[in-house]
Amino acid sequence: MPLLQDSDAMYRLLIQSVVDYAIYMLTPEGIVANWNPGAQRAKGYTAVEIVGQHFSLFYSEDERRADLPGQNLRIARTEGRFEAQGWRLKKDGSAFWAHVIIDAVRNDAGDLLGFAKITRDCTEQHQALQVQREHERRFRLLVQGVSDYAIYMLDLDGNVVNWNAGAQRAKGYQEHEIVGQHFSVFYTPEDRALGLPSKGLETARREGRFEAEGIRQRKDGSHFWTHVVIDAIHDDDGEMIGFAKITRDITERRKTELQLLEAKELAEKRSAEMATLSRFLDSVIANIPASVIVQDVRSHKILLVNQQAERLFAATKMVGRFASECLRPEVADYINQQMNQTLSMGEVRTSEMQVHTAQGLRTLRSRTVLNQDTESHSDYVLFVAEDVTDELAANAKIHHMAHHDALTGLPNRTLFQQRLKEALARSNGPTGSGKITGTLCLDLDDFKDVNDALGHAFGDKLLRALSERLRSELRDRDTLARLGGDEFAVILPELDTQEAAELAAQRMIQAIRPPFLIDGHSCSVGVSVGIALSPEDHVKPEQLMGYADMALYEAKRNGRNRFERFRQELDEIARQRRTLEADLRTALHFGQLKMHYQPIVSRDGQDISGYEALIRWIHPIKGIIPPMDFIPMAEETGLIHEVGTRALNLACQEAAGWGTLQTVSVNLSPIQFKNPGLIAIVELALADSGLAPERLELEITESVLLGDSDENVSTLRALKALGVAISLDDFGTGYSSLGYLRSFPFDRIKIDRSFVKDMAENKEALAIIRAITGMGNSLLIETTAEGVETHEQMLQLQAEGCSHFQGFFFGRPVPADERLITLKDDL
Ligand code: C2E
Ligand code: CA
Ligand code: CA
Repeated sequence: MPLLQDSDAMYRLLIQSVVDYAIYMLTPEGIVANWNPGAQRAKGYTAVEIVGQHFSLFYSEDERRADLPGQNLRIARTEGRFEAQGWRLKKDGSAFWAHVIIDAVRNDAGDLLGFAKITRDCTEQHQALQVQREHERRFRLLVQGVSDYAIYMLDLDGNVVNWNAGAQRAKGYQEHEIVGQHFSVFYTPEDRALGLPSKGLETARREGRFEAEGIRQRKDGSHFWTHVVIDAIHDDDGEMIGFAKITRDITERRKTELQLLEAKELAEKRSAEMATLSRFLDSVIANIPASVIVQDVRSHKILLVNQQAERLFAATKMVGRFASECLRPEVADYINQQMNQTLSMGEVRTSEMQVHTAQGLRTLRSRTVLNQDTESHSDYVLFVAEDVTDELAANAKIHHMAHHDALTGLPNRTLFQQRLKEALARSNGPTGSGKITGTLCLDLDDFKDVNDALGHAFGDKLLRALSERLRSELRDRDTLARLGGDEFAVILPELDTQEAAELAAQRMIQAIRPPFLIDGHSCSVGVSVGIALSPEDHVKPEQLMGYADMALYEAKRNGRNRFERFRQELDEIARQRRTLEADLRTALHFGQLKMHYQPIVSRDGQDISGYEALIRWIHPIKGIIPPMDFIPMAEETGLIHEVGTRALNLACQEAAGWGTLQTVSVNLSPIQFKNPGLIAIVELALADSGLAPERLELEITESVLLGDSDENVSTLRALKALGVAISLDDFGTGYSSLGYLRSFPFDRIKIDRSFVKDMAENKEALAIIRAITGMGNSLLIETTAEGVETHEQMLQLQAEGCSHFQGFFFGRPVPADERLITLKDDL
């Protein structure tokens, strides 16, 4: 078998040339049969040295003792091959990492021929592997040990492959719970719905890395803010094998970040606000209408100045200089004085001074404030000055307006009362002068008529002219005040005698007596004056005013255009009046007012055509009070409206029940014409009582037609239109102008009883009666003679043409049920 032998030789050659592997044969007992160069290289023995030796030589002492060499051979024998790695010894005793294969070599019959042993020195690889293993171990430990980061791997589909302590800590899952699960469990349902898990994975797959921050969900459902990195992992061949996922819980960091962000925003906002505020303050200082100067306390140099100050003091470039360098000496002195006083006397100082400024002499109200800041060592004085010249002038004007009457420029009631108080304080009391103070109340007579007739503008001019005349009669120290309307008042301080006050009053009355010539009109007014004196009458201002007023009232009562001194009985009268007024109210309330009826007789028929209703106050204590004792007071107080209405209603009601066609005459006060409801009152009285209008007669006096009477005349017409008759009462007294008879179609004239009384002796009275009856007859107006007390009078009046008579001769006023119904036969 040359080929075999050949190939055998070839094979031997091959083996002999292999240097990296120790290849040698062992006998079945383990004796080294041959040795190749690789073996020599690996183990250090030459073939001569080793062939024939037992292979256990390569094992360590311990291994030999444990019969490892023998075991290995047994394995190779029984199993055909033994393969292992382990430390082996070289000849020089050094060890090498060997990869050992022992193959059992058998012949065709199966008999064991020996063992082929191949040993490779893998020390280097082994060491490298060891190093790598150590690396990997450490790395694994590192990864597993990292607890701040969740580090885990995903397979290509995104399922969790492994899990570190950090992952457990961050997400709450144990390794066995999560490995194999899809990583989308870490996402919130919302993010899952948005497909975020797969999007992240896609990005990592496409770009190698995905990095994001977001909300993730723990096992317990709680959320945390996280920073996530997904890295695609490739093997050595570049094949992608999965993903490394590193997740970090950055909730805390994020919180801090957010806080920082907020703090930053806040700080920015604050600083923006501060900047705005500072700009605002700058503009405040620039725009306040006050002058501002700030001076350094130590250097006395000016630190700040606004435009107003520059303008007011006509100076520029003041900052950094002394006041004395840039201001006129007197202004600099003024400012320095203010500031120095603040420094020496206190923190805040105010002053009001007249200063010669660039705008002339102005009153400056200044405030100087010392500002000391120990921290910044900045001590400065702030000087703020306001020009209050106009304000003071306006105040003075307002003050004047509040104390003076706009029309006449005279002091008004406020100032009057103030001055009266002062005057009384000066004269009365322990330190007073002891002199007399006169208080005068003045009221113009019939000023209202002038105003009504000639207009308010005229009235105003008259008041001004009149004030001047009054004023010219007084001393400088006297006060003439206009209290309102046509009321004036005078204070006469420091009088020596009571007569001096009366003389002054008399002078004033005289002064306005000559007619005033205004706008081409000549016009006369009178004035009534009431005088009260201190300390004679009283020492209190209010009381004096009240007394002067009572005296004035008395002057008016006594015929006007005169003065009266206050007397204690005036006070008494006034008091009585007040009592009477209260009593009358009670009388109205309790129905103490009754009507009495006096017959009116017609000339021809000699029968009673009607009655005049005359009011009576049936007082529970004082008895019957006649109308003249309370009607004037009722007219002054306005109670006449109620009293008159009551009288009218009573008269209508009683007359309606008489069952005859006799008339009833009711007296109307001129004051009642001031009531715009008069027509309605009459209408209502008729309607309520059912009295036929033609049975009612209303008696008015001439005064209704006086002055501004157009309105009254139209009221008369309206009354007449109701169907009632209108009589002119007391004709012949007062103004007695026959012209009145033409101004309104009266139904009757009542001739005042004074003419009837005088008729027998006085030709004039008879003439007047004659004129009236003549006029009446020609105008077809009936005439009633009043106060007929005798048969003779009646006969004479009959002869003079009177159509009716009224008087005690026929009957006195009596209650309705006592009234005379038919005339006695002998009349
Ligand atoms: P008058 O309207 O002139 O009334 C007539 C007055 O003369 C009545 O006085 C009456 O009693 C009185 N008198 C009548 N005949 C004679 C006589 O022969 N001799 C004398 N010496 N006197 C006679 P009386 O009742 O005291 O009324 C006084 C005035 O009071 C009335 O004067 C009238 O102006 C007023 N008066 C009376 N009742 C009312 C009333 O209800 N309303 C209003 N506003 N005034 C009334
Ligand atoms: Ca009458
Ligand atoms: Ca009368």
